[in-house]
Amino acid sequence: MTAEQWIYLDGQYVTKENAKVSVFDHGFLYGDGIFEGIRIYNGNIFKCKEHLDRLYDSAKSIMLDIPLSYDEMREAMAETIRRNEMRNGYIRLVVSRGYGNLGIDPLRCEKASVVIIVEELSIYPEEAYLKGLRTISVSQRRNIPDALNPKIKSLNYLNNVLVKIQSNHAGAGEAIMLNSQGYVTEGSSDNIFIVKNGVLITPPCYLGALEGITRNAIIELADKIGLPFKEQPFTLHDVYVADEVFFTGTAAEVIAAYEVDGRTIGDGVAGPITLKLLEEFRQIVDKDGYKVFAE
Ligand code: PMP
Repeated sequence: MTAEQWIYLDGQYVTKENAKVSVFDHGFLYGDGIFEGIRIYNGNIFKCKEHLDRLYDSAKSIMLDIPLSYDEMREAMAETIRRNEMRNGYIRLVVSRGYGNLGIDPLRCEKASVVIIVEELSIYPEEAYLKGLRTISVSQRRNIPDALNPKIKSLNYLNNVLVKIQSNHAGAGEAIMLNSQGYVTEGSSDNIFIVKNGVLITPPCYLGALEGITRNAIIELADKIGLPFKEQPFTLHDVYVADEVFFTGTAAEVIAAYEVDGRTIGDGVAGPITLKLLEEFRQIVDKDGYKVFAE
């Protein structure tokens, strides 16, 4: 990475100190906007198309006109990576409703604002992938899909932040969120899987979860290695008695839970299927996507 961090801000490349948006931006005032978190591995934007598809779908759902075409957005992302000479790291794409007045009405915002930030990333030390995380379930329920659908990756993350606050307070590494019917949905910023008797299970996203790109990649890898898979609702009981529990996300990749609400999961370390899927996952991350640098 270059000494100076370059940030894309509405068509300009500016330094971190100069990367400023207005206090009248509705992303700031109302959480009105959308975002994506993407990884770059060895110069490859992992699952670039899938992330851009989700970004443009979120935009359509909230009637937000992204001022860049799909190809322009991909090129802006690639150019930000090149300017920062960033071969491995994290990309944050943000599209806010833009500058408006103090009223909530998005019609007062003339043009959406686009920000692209690339940064180095180290979320968990390597040992954590072998041991897993101590986790808890939280009392905070997932937003109900008919109020604010968790499939929209919106800037309104207070639901998740409140979960993180509870989980921090309990000294846990990740938390499990239920929906208002008591079904398991996802973590604070990761999807969840369990393994029982050799079958991989994840909840359907309609229960209230983001359709994670890592989640989908893991489902494809399970198919590739012949691991039986089901998308099925389950409760905390099923998590407690699972042989393995793990979370998936762009930043976290694939990380086990060795404990949930005081119950030890399996042998109290990351299980063999979790580690196998992590290994398979790490083999595709620099291949499946969009290559930024001319080889
Ligand atoms: N759920 C939530 C709430 C998230 O914010 C994320 C993104 N970190 C995920 C799941 C995982 O999605 P992805 O694999 O696309 O990063």
